[in-house]
Formats: sequence, structure tokens, C-alpha cells
Amino acid sequence: MNGPTAATPVEPCDFTVFGGTGDLALRKLLPALYLRDRDGQLPDGFRIIGVSRAEVDDEGYRSMVEDALSEHVAADELTDDVVRRLVGRLHHVTLDVEDVSDWHRLHDRLKDGAASEDVIRVFYLAVAPALFGPICEHLDQVGLATDRSRVVLEKPIGTDLDTARTVNEAVGRVFDESHIFRIDHYLGKESVQNLLVTRFANTFLEPLWNSRWVDHVQITVSESLGVGERGSYYDRSGALRDMVQNHLLQLVCLVAMEPPTYVDRETVRDEKLKVLQALRPLTPELVDRDIVAGQYAAGLCDGAPAPSYAAEVGHESSTETYVAMRTEVQNWRWAGVPFYLRTGKRMAERVSEIVVVFKEPPHPMFPHSEGPTEPNRLHIRVQPDEGMRLHMTAKEPGPGGIRLRPVSLDLSYAAAFGGRSPDAYERLLMDVVRGNTTLFMRRDEVEAAWAWVAPILDRWSRPTHRPRRYPAGTHGPVAAATLLERDGRSWQETE
Ligand code: NAP
Repeated sequence: MNGPTAATPVEPCDFTVFGGTGDLALRKLLPALYLRDRDGQLPDGFRIIGVSRAEVDDEGYRSMVEDALSEHVAADELTDDVVRRLVGRLHHVTLDVEDVSDWHRLHDRLKDGAASEDVIRVFYLAVAPALFGPICEHLDQVGLATDRSRVVLEKPIGTDLDTARTVNEAVGRVFDESHIFRIDHYLGKESVQNLLVTRFANTFLEPLWNSRWVDHVQITVSESLGVGERGSYYDRSGALRDMVQNHLLQLVCLVAMEPPTYVDRETVRDEKLKVLQALRPLTPELVDRDIVAGQYAAGLCDGAPAPSYAAEVGHESSTETYVAMRTEVQNWRWAGVPFYLRTGKRMAERVSEIVVVFKEPPHPMFPHSEGPTEPNRLHIRVQPDEGMRLHMTAKEPGPGGIRLRPVSLDLSYAAAFGGRSPDAYERLLMDVVRGNTTLFMRRDEVEAAWAWVAPILDRWSRPTHRPRRYPAGTHGPVAAATLLERDGRSWQETE
């Protein structure tokens, strides 16, 4: 099969990373830029400027990034001449973003040696969200927020609706919405984009993609790791804020949305917003009935003893490391179809998967057949091993009656297209430089998602709220299984 097509270079750009010495920059952003450079997508005049308070000069930053590349890029992707080229693009500006007297340093560096006066400027805010507003304000004051500037916001955007609005307003005072890129790296994953292509570039699925033929939808995003060193951040956040409000609800949007008029315009985000607005509103009774919070206790994970969450964060806590829920998209297409979502840490395996379970055939045509008839299921694997699998029923070959056997049609990305599947950040960073906002969250989407989860946050903030315990290395609390059993269904454990 064909390999990936050659990458089209982007325009020259000054790509500034606030938090350029941090974990996200060194582990994800710079390796992604390296791989885009390797594939010829970064032109001459593409500069990368790391910003932090560290007293590091350009040379020091270059060697820091070189070490990070050797740690976070696969050895067979690393080539000396590309590393040299990427490293040659790097600069570091020592700047405390809260200290107004430092800002001239960034201004001078960006003006000095830029490819042109109106070069594209990207400001990637890989710092704490409390700094988003002050950074944008200072960018404006020193004249760096121009029509050719874009700002990228990392999650979390707020911790609830009010704080999200505050962040959005502060950033929106300086940048037009079309220049604001709220990143959700799930949207940059190949399989997630392929979901749109599968639904809308083919005709066979769309007539079935509704309450007449779909029984229910399941979305699972599970991790086998615990909170590790992110404990202090995570303990203030929890799975609902960290995963459900953004990644899981974005996946619901892509599964449930109506066909947009065009895929590269605002219409995709318009359609996603309509899904968020159609989610069944939550009352305290529904939160108690349809939403399960869990927290891992000690157990066995990946064959090794794993400590409890409380032991990892060093104190008893009511923060949830697991959420399972039942919801519905209340519109014509999806009326009555349950969407079951779950996410957790220290689960039996690391997997992200969407499963669309279709209804049983309306009439049992093979009453005397042997073997199981199972409803069709479409599994869309987001990670690892991106791909799709359609479960069908087939006749087992051989004479003497009809024996039914479940079989699957597999589309493995690796097998079909060969080569490496690019990391989501590679795609998304180039979209930022190009000014393409389709795969980024618009302000109204983020706020609609916060508005929808608000009753859960409210209910779970009561002092009596306690997440249910589940042993590390399992599929979560028993109550999550009951949630589906109540409806005569069960979670599709991944294969
Ligand atoms: P981190 O490792 O703690 O890095 C923070 C970076 O910000 C460092 O470079 C730090 O350098 C810089 N910084 C902090 N205060 C500053 C200031 N006043 N002026 C200038 N620079 C400052 O954090 P991270 O893990 O990279 O995460 C950064 C943000 O992205 C956080 O909001 C996090 O929630 C979000 N995020 C991270 C990940 C991830 O995988 N790491 C994933 C999704 C979202 P100095 O201390 O030297 O100034």
C-alpha cells in the first residue's frame, strides 16, 4: 500500500513556546516539531523560541532539547543532520511572564532576525492556565499580538464554567476567536479524524447511524498508569475535569454530530456545539443514578503491585480517578440511544476505543442454526494500534446445516497504510501555523461542556461524596458494570 504522502511546507514562522523547558514542551511539542522538520514541513526561517524563567542561553537550551529528542523520539527516526537543523532553529528567552520589565527581551528577540516584518507568530502557552491572561495582555502591550499572531491554549481551560469564562475573556480581549487555538490532542489523532472520513466520505454507514439501527454507543478511555508525579495537579482536578469535560465529550461530538457542510470550515465546530447542547441535562437525581465516581485502591497493575491513589498523593482524598456515565443526545437522530462513557486510571489496560453497537436483526431468519448471533459492532480504536474493526456474523464453511460464527473485518492503520502514524501534536501544530481551527475547540464548545458537567461538579463537591473504590488493574468499580446491567447491556471489554 501507499506510504504517507509528502508533507507540504508551512510558511516561515516564529514559534514561541511559553514553558519551553517544561515537560510538555520537551516530551511532546519539540519532538513533534522535529518530526515535521524531518519530513520537510518546516521551511528556512522557521524559528522556535523557548521561554522560561531559567537562566539558560541559546546554547544551553539547544543541548537541553537535543537530550530531550534523544529521549522522546524513537531512535530510528533520529538523524544527525535533522537534529542539527532543528536545534539550529532554537532560541531561549529568559523571562518571568509576570514581570513586566522582562518582556522587552522577547520583543527584541522576535524583532531581531525575523524572516519578515509580518512573519506568522505562534504563541504556545505550555504554562499554568493562571498565566494565560497575563501573557496575552503583555503580548498586546509589547505589540506582538498582531493579525498574523495565533495563541495556543493547553488544557485545562478553567476548572469550571466561571473560571473557563474568565480565561476565555482574558484571552479574547487580545486575540480574535479565529486566532485562538484551544488544543485537545484527541482531535489530532488519525483514528479520530478517520471517524469523520468514515462517516462522511462513505455512504454505507450514514443511513444506519441513528436510533433506528444503533442500540447504544460506548466510549472508553482507560490508562494503566496511576497519577505518578502529577498527583498534586490531579488531586485538584480529577477524572471528570481532566478527561470527561474535554476528551470524552469531544469524542461524543464526533460520533453524534450531523454532517457538516464542509469539513474545513466553522461548520464542524457548529455541529459539535449542537451535540453538546443536546446532551440530556443533569439533575441531582440523574447524577446519583447515572454517573459513577471511582478511585483506585492498591492492586496489581501490569503484573506488578500498584499502590492506592491515597498512597500516591500522600493523603486520603475524595478526588475521582474513574468516571462512568450514561447519557443521551436528545435530538431526532439519537433519541433514546444511550451513550455510555468511562475513563479511569490504573485500569486493566491502556486503551481508547469507541464502540457503536447496532441492533439485532429485526427477524430471526436462522432459527435452527447453531452458534451465537451477536449484534454488529463497530470498534474504532483510538489508541494504541489505531484502526477499526467491524464485527459481523458469517456462516461457518462446511456442509450440513448452517452454523453461525462471529467474524471481524479489520482495518489496521499500520497494515493498510504502513509506516508510522504521526502523533496528534504533529498534525495540530502545523494546523496552528496554517491558521486552520477546525480541530480545535471553540470558546462556546468549551463553555457548553463545562455547563453540562456543572451539576456533577456541584453534586460531587458535597462533603459526604466518596468515590467508590476499585482495585488497581481492574475495569473499575462494580457500580460501573451495574450501570449497563440495569439496561440489559454490558461493557464491551476490548480485544
Ligand atoms: P512543567 O513541566 O511544570 O513546566 C512549566 C513550564 O513553565 C516550565 O518551562 C517553567 O519554567 C515555565 N514557567 C512557569 N512559570 C513561569 C513564569 N512565571 N514565566 C515563564 N515561564 C514560566 O509543566 P508541564 O507539564 O509542561 O505543563 C504545562 C501546562 O500544560 C500545564 O498547564 C499543564 O496542565 C498543561 N498540560 C501538560 C501536559 C503534559 O503532558 N505535561 C498535558 C496536557 C496539558 P521555569 O520554572 O524555569 O520558569
